[in-house]
Amino acid sequence: MAWDFETDPEYQAKLDWTDQFVREEVEPLDHVFPHQQFEPLDDARRKIIDPLKDEVRRQDMWATHLGPELGGQGFGQLKLALLNEILGRSLWASIVFGCQAPDTGNAEIIAHYGTPAQKDRYLQPLLDGECFSCYSMTEPHAGADPTLFKTHAVKDGDEWVINGWKYFSSNAKTASFLIVMAVTNPDVSPYTGMSMFLVPTDTPGVNIVRNVGLWGEELNQGSHALIHYEDVRVPEDALLGGEGQAFVIAQTRLGGGRIHHAMRTIGMAQKALDMMCERALSRETQGSLLADKQFVQGYIADSYAQLIQFRLFVLYTAWEIDKYNDYKRVRKDIAVAKVVMPTVLHDIAWRAMQVHGALGTTNEMPFFGMIHGAGVMGLADGPTEVHKVTVARQVLRDYRGTEGMWPTEWIPGKQDAAREKFAQYLELEVGNL
Ligand SMILES: Cc1cc2nc3c(=O)[nH]c(=O)nc-3n(C[C@H](O)[C@H](O)[C@H](O)COP(=O)(O)OP(=O)(O)OC[C@H]3O[C@@H](n4cnc5c(N)ncnc54)[C@H](O)[C@@H]3O)c2cc1C
Repeated sequence: MAWDFETDPEYQAKLDWTDQFVREEVEPLDHVFPHQQFEPLDDARRKIIDPLKDEVRRQDMWATHLGPELGGQGFGQLKLALLNEILGRSLWASIVFGCQAPDTGNAEIIAHYGTPAQKDRYLQPLLDGECFSCYSMTEPHAGADPTLFKTHAVKDGDEWVINGWKYFSSNAKTASFLIVMAVTNPDVSPYTGMSMFLVPTDTPGVNIVRNVGLWGEELNQGSHALIHYEDVRVPEDALLGGEGQAFVIAQTRLGGGRIHHAMRTIGMAQKALDMMCERALSRETQGSLLADKQFVQGYIADSYAQLIQFRLFVLYTAWEIDKYNDYKRVRKDIAVAKVVMPTVLHDIAWRAMQVHGALGTTNEMPFFGMIHGAGVMGLADGPTEVHKVTVARQVLRDYRGTEGMWPTEWIPGKQDAAREKFAQYLELEVGNL
């Protein structure tokens, strides 16, 4: 019977190394170069970051989500989950380990659908950690419902001409190329009438109108671009996959992206719980430690319970992806992880903030960033509500309605059936009570 919660000792040793390396060498980067992880390296930063990446490569931990044919270790999703929950502690860690969103998902679809020429041009530099990429799908008037997208690409000779607006195209300002979803055949269903294009960011007509920031960032200094694609001309071979394949490609991309966010979120929520416990054991009020107060004990117990349920579920889902090698088959559980993730992070970070008192609310502690991050997790890669609909639909597939007036578990009906089954042994007549 194979049902095992243990990590093999060889990989555990790698995880132990990673944990120490991230705490000692990588987390400090968050404090000297905050939020600069998606900027191309200048000479000063290269001197610090490149040796760290080299060390990760030496330890065979670079881009472990990829198979050996793409320069990774092919460890699979379960091992990636165990790694990502460590990397989730730090903003810089996934960059130093070559497995940062959104580039992992983008690399995955180019590896899957790209031609050899597209792989040479776009995939290799991405895998080498030498460039960034952007996934440009959401539009200003529609996000959760891609069937409403208007950006379109029209064939003109041997070129495609792209026109339209995209919104929240993360990292567009530092990306070398964009993956753009556009309507290519308005006369058929959107599910078969949209295509994906690989567009170098410096193509004439790619106009970044604003770099939208998240809460707390300077106006127009953020990473989420509003882009106007204005007569953007790309050659025929800029098409990624076949014409009309955008929805299929998007599902491949977003399935992986969502579960990877969930893996990293475990690390961030664990960090909040660690801080909550440390504070509870450090601060005294009204004659005893915070850790001795039942309310605070409740916070700690609830947080641990939420985190361990979430963690086990994410690991299980990762195991399923490895087993079936098919995101579609695991769609329901990926959606569950996506739905649960913001609540787990929000609740634990909120309690940790509360236990820190006034200090917790300041910009000298990371809690508000985490709580804001939880809000982002409820939207990026699709809103929670939409994923709940997916879960419910998938769950309902295994059920049928009853034909009669009463539910199957209606007790009088069950009682009658049971009495009939055992009638010959019962002294009382069937139904006579
Ligand atoms: C930090 C961040 C990074 C992002 N990065 C990218 C990126 O790189 N590329 C990209 O293309 N997009 C990106 N997005 C956009 C993201 O995918 C969209 O925000 C998301 O799909 C929701 O679209 P919307 O914001 O237009 O909300 P809408 O579609 O307008 O939905 C708004 C709200 O309506 C409700 N709602 C919507 N549909 C339903 C439904 N069916 N049932 C019930 N309620 C519903 C939900 O409450 C939802 O939050 C990013 C978003 C964030 C926050």
